[in-house]
Amino acid sequence: MKAIRYHKHGTSDVLRYEEVETPQIGPNDVLVKVKTCGVNYVDILARDGKLPVKIALPRIPGVEITGEVVERGDMVDSIDVGQAVVALSRVGCGRCEYCLTAEENICINNQSLGLNLDGGYAEYTCIPVKNIVPLPNGVSFLDAAGAPLSGLTAWHMLVTRAQVKAGEDVLILAAGSGIGSIAVQIAKFSGARVIATAGSDVKLTKAKTLGADVVINHREQDIYEEVRRITNKRGVDVVFEHVGTATWEKSIASLARNGRLVTCGAHTGHMGTIDIWRLFSKQVSLLGSYYGTKRELVEVLKLISQGKLRTIIHQVFPLDGAHEAQRAMETRSAFGKLVLEMN
Ligand SMILES: [Zn+2]
Repeated sequence: MKAIRYHKHGTSDVLRYEEVETPQIGPNDVLVKVKTCGVNYVDILARDGKLPVKIALPRIPGVEITGEVVERGDMVDSIDVGQAVVALSRVGCGRCEYCLTAEENICINNQSLGLNLDGGYAEYTCIPVKNIVPLPNGVSFLDAAGAPLSGLTAWHMLVTRAQVKAGEDVLILAAGSGIGSIAVQIAKFSGARVIATAGSDVKLTKAKTLGADVVINHREQDIYEEVRRITNKRGVDVVFEHVGTATWEKSIASLARNGRLVTCGAHTGHMGTIDIWRLFSKQVSLLGSYYGTKRELVEVLKLISQGKLRTIIHQVFPLDGAHEAQRAMETRSAFGKLVLEMN
Protein backbone atom coordinates (compact mmCIF):
# COMPACT_ATOMS: atom_id res chain seq x y z
CA MET A 1 0.00 0.00 0.00
CA LYS A 2 0.97 3.64 -0.25
CA ALA A 3 1.66 5.58 2.96
CA ILE A 4 3.38 8.67 4.30
CA ARG A 5 6.19 7.87 6.72
CA TYR A 6 9.01 9.69 8.44
CA HIS A 7 12.28 7.88 9.14
CA LYS A 8 13.80 10.66 11.22
CA HIS A 9 12.48 13.69 13.07
CA GLY A 10 12.56 17.11 11.41
CA THR A 11 10.61 19.56 9.27
CA SER A 12 7.90 18.53 6.80
CA ASP A 13 10.73 17.58 4.40
CA VAL A 14 11.16 14.31 6.35
CA LEU A 15 7.72 13.08 5.22
CA ARG A 16 8.06 10.43 2.50
CA TYR A 17 5.33 9.07 0.26
CA GLU A 18 6.30 5.44 -0.19
CA GLU A 19 5.27 1.83 -0.73
CA VAL A 20 4.98 -0.12 2.53
CA GLU A 21 3.61 -3.49 3.63
CA THR A 22 -0.15 -3.53 4.19
CA PRO A 23 -0.56 -4.16 7.96
CA GLN A 24 -1.25 -7.69 9.20
CA ILE A 25 -4.14 -7.70 11.65
CA GLY A 26 -4.35 -9.64 14.90
CA PRO A 27 -7.38 -11.62 16.13
CA ASN A 28 -8.94 -8.59 17.86
CA ASP A 29 -8.16 -6.04 15.14
CA VAL A 30 -9.83 -4.79 12.00
CA LEU A 31 -8.17 -3.60 8.81
CA VAL A 32 -9.60 -0.24 7.82
CA LYS A 33 -9.38 1.27 4.35
CA VAL A 34 -8.71 4.86 5.31
CA LYS A 35 -11.10 7.42 3.82
CA THR A 36 -10.05 10.56 5.68
CA CYS A 37 -7.28 11.45 8.08
CA GLY A 38 -7.33 14.80 9.83
CA VAL A 39 -4.06 16.73 9.94
CA ASN A 40 -3.47 17.94 13.50
CA TYR A 41 -0.83 19.89 15.35
CA VAL A 42 0.09 16.78 17.30
CA ASP A 43 1.24 15.25 13.98
CA ILE A 44 3.72 18.10 13.62
CA LEU A 45 4.94 17.90 17.21
CA ALA A 46 5.48 14.13 16.78
CA ARG A 47 7.26 14.61 13.45
CA ASP A 48 9.48 17.28 14.99
CA GLY A 49 10.33 14.98 17.91
CA LYS A 50 8.87 17.51 20.36
CA LEU A 51 6.40 15.26 22.16
CA PRO A 52 7.26 13.78 25.57
CA VAL A 53 6.52 10.38 24.00
CA LYS A 54 9.03 7.93 22.55
CA ILE A 55 8.25 7.33 18.88
CA ALA A 56 9.85 4.33 17.16
CA LEU A 57 10.83 5.09 13.56
CA PRO A 58 9.84 4.83 10.81
CA ARG A 59 6.33 5.92 11.67
CA ILE A 60 3.10 6.49 9.72
CA PRO A 61 1.48 9.58 11.29
CA GLY A 62 -2.21 10.39 11.57
CA VAL A 63 -4.40 10.16 14.67
CA GLU A 64 -7.80 11.18 13.27
CA ILE A 65 -9.12 8.38 11.11
CA THR A 66 -12.35 7.52 9.31
CA GLY A 67 -12.69 4.61 6.92
CA GLU A 68 -14.30 1.35 5.96
CA VAL A 69 -13.71 -2.05 7.54
CA VAL A 70 -12.30 -4.37 4.84
CA GLU A 71 -11.09 -7.28 6.97
CA ARG A 72 -11.65 -8.44 10.53
CA GLY A 73 -9.67 -10.59 12.92
CA ASP A 74 -10.75 -14.11 13.91
CA MET A 75 -12.16 -12.98 17.28
CA VAL A 76 -14.10 -9.99 15.90
CA ASP A 77 -17.86 -10.36 15.51
CA SER A 78 -19.07 -6.93 16.67
CA ILE A 79 -18.53 -5.16 13.37
CA ASP A 80 -19.09 -6.19 9.76
CA VAL A 81 -16.86 -5.88 6.74
CA GLY A 82 -18.06 -2.89 4.74
CA GLN A 83 -19.07 -0.87 7.82
CA ALA A 84 -18.14 2.82 7.77
CA VAL A 85 -16.31 3.69 10.99
CA VAL A 86 -14.27 6.21 12.91
CA ALA A 87 -11.39 5.27 15.19
CA LEU A 88 -10.69 6.32 18.74
CA SER A 89 -6.98 7.12 18.58
CA ARG A 90 -5.94 6.25 22.15
CA VAL A 91 -5.40 2.53 22.61
CA GLY A 92 -5.87 1.74 26.30
CA CYS A 93 -4.33 -1.28 28.02
CA GLY A 94 -7.73 -2.51 29.23
CA ARG A 95 -6.30 -3.41 32.64
CA CYS A 96 -5.42 -0.25 34.56
CA GLU A 97 -7.85 1.44 36.95
CA TYR A 98 -8.70 4.10 34.34
CA CYS A 99 -9.45 1.65 31.53
CA LEU A 100 -11.57 -0.37 33.95
CA THR A 101 -13.72 2.70 34.60
CA ALA A 102 -14.07 3.71 30.92
CA GLU A 103 -11.48 6.48 31.09
CA GLU A 104 -9.18 4.89 28.54
CA ASN A 105 -8.10 8.39 27.44
CA ILE A 106 -5.95 8.61 30.58
CA CYS A 107 -4.75 4.97 30.60
CA ILE A 108 -1.39 4.75 32.34
CA ASN A 109 -0.02 2.43 29.63
CA ASN A 110 -1.73 3.97 26.68
CA GLN A 111 -0.56 4.17 23.13
CA SER A 112 -1.90 6.22 20.26
CA LEU A 113 -2.53 5.60 16.60
CA GLY A 114 -0.21 7.89 14.66
CA LEU A 115 2.20 8.41 17.56
CA ASN A 116 3.60 5.17 19.00
CA LEU A 117 1.44 3.03 16.65
CA ASP A 118 1.09 3.54 12.90
CA GLY A 119 -1.72 5.90 11.95
CA GLY A 120 -3.91 7.07 9.13
CA TYR A 121 -1.65 8.77 6.59
CA ALA A 122 -1.99 5.54 4.60
CA GLU A 123 -4.33 3.58 2.37
CA TYR A 124 -4.95 1.00 5.12
CA THR A 125 -4.46 0.86 8.85
CA CYS A 126 -4.81 -1.78 11.55
CA ILE A 127 -7.04 -0.79 14.48
CA PRO A 128 -8.08 -2.74 17.61
CA VAL A 129 -11.81 -3.40 17.34
CA LYS A 130 -12.39 -1.88 20.79
CA ASN A 131 -11.32 1.47 19.24
CA ILE A 132 -13.85 1.30 16.43
CA VAL A 133 -17.12 3.26 16.44
CA PRO A 134 -19.62 2.86 13.57
CA LEU A 135 -20.51 5.99 11.62
CA PRO A 136 -24.20 6.87 12.02
CA ASN A 137 -26.30 6.48 8.85
CA GLY A 138 -26.23 9.55 6.67
CA VAL A 139 -22.93 10.87 8.02
CA SER A 140 -20.24 11.03 5.32
CA PHE A 141 -16.57 10.42 5.96
CA LEU A 142 -15.87 14.13 5.46
CA ASP A 143 -18.71 15.07 7.84
CA ALA A 144 -17.03 12.93 10.50
CA ALA A 145 -13.44 13.82 9.57
CA GLY A 146 -12.99 16.15 12.55
CA ALA A 147 -14.91 14.04 15.07
CA PRO A 148 -12.37 11.54 16.43
CA LEU A 149 -9.81 14.11 17.58
CA SER A 150 -10.87 17.77 17.30
CA GLY A 151 -14.54 17.17 18.07
CA LEU A 152 -13.90 14.62 20.78
CA THR A 153 -11.21 16.69 22.50
CA ALA A 154 -13.30 19.88 22.43
CA TRP A 155 -16.31 18.00 23.80
CA HIS A 156 -14.32 16.46 26.65
CA MET A 157 -12.89 19.89 27.52
CA LEU A 158 -16.05 21.96 27.48
CA VAL A 159 -18.79 19.51 28.43
CA THR A 160 -17.07 16.94 30.65
CA ARG A 161 -14.23 18.86 32.26
CA ALA A 162 -15.32 22.53 32.35
CA GLN A 163 -19.07 21.73 32.45
CA VAL A 164 -20.07 24.87 30.58
CA LYS A 165 -23.53 26.06 31.53
CA ALA A 166 -26.12 28.21 29.78
CA GLY A 167 -25.50 31.90 30.32
CA GLU A 168 -21.79 31.59 31.05
CA ASP A 169 -19.11 33.53 29.20
CA VAL A 170 -16.65 31.25 27.40
CA LEU A 171 -13.43 32.47 25.78
CA ILE A 172 -12.33 30.26 22.85
CA LEU A 173 -8.72 30.86 21.84
CA ALA A 174 -7.72 30.42 18.19
CA ALA A 175 -11.24 29.84 16.90
CA GLY A 176 -9.88 29.33 13.40
CA SER A 177 -8.05 26.14 14.34
CA GLY A 178 -9.63 22.74 13.76
CA ILE A 179 -10.42 22.31 17.44
CA GLY A 180 -11.39 25.96 17.93
CA SER A 181 -13.92 25.86 15.10
CA ILE A 182 -15.70 22.94 16.78
CA ALA A 183 -15.35 24.42 20.28
CA VAL A 184 -17.20 27.58 19.22
CA GLN A 185 -20.14 25.42 18.11
CA ILE A 186 -20.18 23.32 21.31
CA ALA A 187 -19.99 26.36 23.60
CA LYS A 188 -22.76 28.05 21.61
CA PHE A 189 -25.25 25.22 21.75
CA SER A 190 -24.43 24.74 25.44
CA GLY A 191 -26.02 28.17 25.82
CA ALA A 192 -22.89 30.16 26.57
CA ARG A 193 -21.96 33.60 25.31
CA VAL A 194 -18.98 32.84 23.09
CA ILE A 195 -16.02 35.19 22.89
CA ALA A 196 -13.66 33.96 20.15
CA THR A 197 -10.15 35.02 19.21
CA ALA A 198 -8.42 34.70 15.84
CA GLY A 199 -5.57 36.35 13.98
CA SER A 200 -7.40 37.89 11.02
CA ASP A 201 -10.67 39.64 10.34
CA VAL A 202 -11.60 37.00 7.75
CA LYS A 203 -11.30 34.31 10.44
CA LEU A 204 -13.26 36.41 12.92
CA THR A 205 -16.11 36.80 10.43
CA LYS A 206 -16.16 33.03 9.96
CA ALA A 207 -16.13 32.47 13.73
CA LYS A 208 -19.24 34.64 13.96
CA THR A 209 -21.02 32.48 11.39
CA LEU A 210 -20.32 29.46 13.64
CA GLY A 211 -21.90 31.17 16.63
CA ALA A 212 -19.30 33.44 18.21
CA ASP A 213 -21.10 36.38 19.86
CA VAL A 214 -18.06 38.62 20.27
CA VAL A 215 -14.67 38.38 18.56
CA ILE A 216 -11.15 39.55 19.39
CA ASN A 217 -8.36 39.95 16.83
CA HIS A 218 -5.41 38.69 18.88
CA ARG A 219 -2.88 40.25 16.51
CA GLU A 220 -4.30 43.74 16.96
CA GLN A 221 -6.01 43.60 20.35
CA ASP A 222 -4.97 42.51 23.84
CA ILE A 223 -7.05 39.47 24.79
CA TYR A 224 -7.10 40.30 28.52
CA GLU A 225 -8.03 43.97 28.00
CA GLU A 226 -10.76 43.04 25.54
CA VAL A 227 -12.20 40.39 27.87
CA ARG A 228 -12.33 42.96 30.67
CA ARG A 229 -14.08 45.45 28.40
CA ILE A 230 -16.59 42.90 27.03
CA THR A 231 -17.44 41.52 30.50
CA ASN A 232 -17.40 44.85 32.39
CA LYS A 233 -14.20 43.81 34.22
CA ARG A 234 -15.79 40.59 35.50
CA GLY A 235 -13.83 38.11 33.36
CA VAL A 236 -15.03 34.92 31.70
CA ASP A 237 -16.32 31.76 33.37
CA VAL A 238 -14.35 29.41 31.13
CA VAL A 239 -11.19 29.79 29.04
CA PHE A 240 -10.70 27.18 26.30
CA GLU A 241 -6.88 27.04 26.19
CA HIS A 242 -4.84 24.99 23.72
CA VAL A 243 -2.02 27.37 22.84
CA GLY A 244 0.36 27.20 25.81
CA THR A 245 3.08 29.58 26.96
CA ALA A 246 2.17 32.34 24.49
CA THR A 247 -1.31 32.87 25.96
CA TRP A 248 -1.12 31.23 29.42
CA GLU A 249 -0.82 34.28 31.68
CA LYS A 250 -3.49 36.29 29.85
CA SER A 251 -5.77 33.28 29.85
CA ILE A 252 -5.57 32.97 33.63
CA ALA A 253 -5.91 36.73 34.11
CA SER A 254 -9.07 36.67 31.98
CA LEU A 255 -10.92 34.35 34.38
CA ALA A 256 -13.77 35.55 36.57
CA ARG A 257 -14.14 34.43 40.18
CA ASN A 258 -14.95 30.69 40.19
CA GLY A 259 -13.60 30.61 36.63
CA ARG A 260 -12.25 27.46 35.02
CA LEU A 261 -9.35 27.24 32.62
CA VAL A 262 -9.39 24.03 30.60
CA THR A 263 -6.41 23.08 28.46
CA CYS A 264 -5.57 20.30 26.03
CA GLY A 265 -2.41 21.55 24.39
CA ALA A 266 0.65 23.75 24.50
CA HIS A 267 2.24 23.94 21.06
CA THR A 268 3.84 27.31 21.87
CA GLY A 269 5.54 25.87 24.97
CA HIS A 270 4.78 23.75 28.04
CA MET A 271 5.88 26.18 30.74
CA GLY A 272 3.73 28.86 32.34
CA THR A 273 3.71 30.74 35.61
CA ILE A 274 0.79 31.41 37.87
CA ASP A 275 0.08 33.95 40.58
CA ILE A 276 -0.93 31.66 43.47
CA TRP A 277 -2.66 34.51 45.29
CA ARG A 278 -4.90 35.06 42.28
CA LEU A 279 -5.53 31.32 42.03
CA PHE A 280 -6.95 30.95 45.51
CA SER A 281 -8.44 34.36 46.09
CA LYS A 282 -10.52 34.12 42.90
CA GLN A 283 -11.27 30.41 43.45
CA VAL A 284 -9.94 29.60 40.00
CA SER A 285 -9.81 26.00 38.74
CA LEU A 286 -7.16 24.74 36.31
CA LEU A 287 -8.38 21.70 34.37
CA GLY A 288 -6.22 19.44 32.27
CA SER A 289 -8.03 17.55 29.53
CA TYR A 290 -6.73 14.72 27.42
CA TYR A 291 -8.51 13.39 24.32
CA GLY A 292 -11.88 11.87 25.25
CA THR A 293 -13.69 8.60 25.77
CA LYS A 294 -15.51 6.25 23.44
CA ARG A 295 -18.83 7.22 24.97
CA GLU A 296 -18.11 10.88 24.22
CA LEU A 297 -17.16 10.04 20.63
CA VAL A 298 -20.55 8.36 20.19
CA GLU A 299 -22.20 11.54 21.54
CA VAL A 300 -20.24 13.77 19.16
CA LEU A 301 -21.15 11.59 16.17
CA LYS A 302 -24.82 11.70 17.15
CA LEU A 303 -24.71 15.51 17.21
CA ILE A 304 -23.05 15.53 13.78
CA SER A 305 -25.77 13.20 12.44
CA GLN A 306 -28.41 15.61 13.81
CA GLY A 307 -26.74 18.57 12.13
CA LYS A 308 -25.95 20.24 15.46
CA LEU A 309 -22.18 20.02 15.03
CA ARG A 310 -20.18 20.35 11.85
CA THR A 311 -16.63 19.53 10.86
CA ILE A 312 -15.42 22.79 9.35
CA ILE A 313 -13.04 21.84 6.54
CA HIS A 314 -10.64 24.42 5.16
CA GLN A 315 -8.99 22.21 2.55
CA VAL A 316 -8.81 18.59 1.46
CA PHE A 317 -5.53 17.11 0.24
CA PRO A 318 -4.69 13.76 -1.39
CA LEU A 319 -2.47 11.35 0.56
CA ASP A 320 0.63 12.43 -1.37
CA GLY A 321 -0.21 16.03 -0.45
CA ALA A 322 0.48 15.46 3.26
CA HIS A 323 3.60 17.59 3.07
CA GLU A 324 1.59 20.56 1.74
CA ALA A 325 -1.14 19.96 4.33
CA GLN A 326 1.33 20.10 7.21
CA ARG A 327 2.97 23.18 5.75
CA ALA A 328 -0.46 24.84 5.55
CA MET A 329 -1.03 24.01 9.21
CA GLU A 330 2.31 25.52 10.19
CA THR A 331 1.52 28.81 8.43
CA ARG A 332 -1.78 29.04 10.40
CA SER A 333 -3.60 30.31 7.33
CA ALA A 334 -6.50 27.85 7.54
CA PHE A 335 -9.91 28.29 9.09
CA GLY A 336 -11.05 24.85 10.18
CA LYS A 337 -9.63 21.44 9.44
CA LEU A 338 -7.01 20.31 6.97
CA VAL A 339 -7.90 16.79 5.91
CA LEU A 340 -6.28 14.06 3.82
CA GLU A 341 -8.86 12.22 1.72
CA MET A 342 -8.11 8.86 0.14
CA ASN A 343 -10.00 7.34 -2.82
ZN1 LIG B 1 -5.18 1.25 30.83
